Amino acid sequence: MAVQQNRVTRSRRNMRRSHDALVAANPNECGNCGELRRPHHVCPSCGHYDGREVIARSTEIDLEDDAA
Ligand SMILES: [Zn+2]
Repeated sequence: MAVQQNRVTRSRRNMRRSHDALVAANPNECGNCGELRRPHHVCPSCGHYDGREVIARSTEIDLEDDAA
């Protein structure tokens, strides 16, 4: 097992962690349905990208009927 040679000071540790923060997502509105979606990604709610439908979405999924 590798063992560190020198103690990492509070300052060094905190400098390393200065880049660890998570950044918030930056959603845009879908041009088709107006739902929020990630930039450069297919809209998860309507399946559109760049003004056309690229993923066919079934309009109704009834879980009650599937389970029966
Ligand atoms: Zn959409």
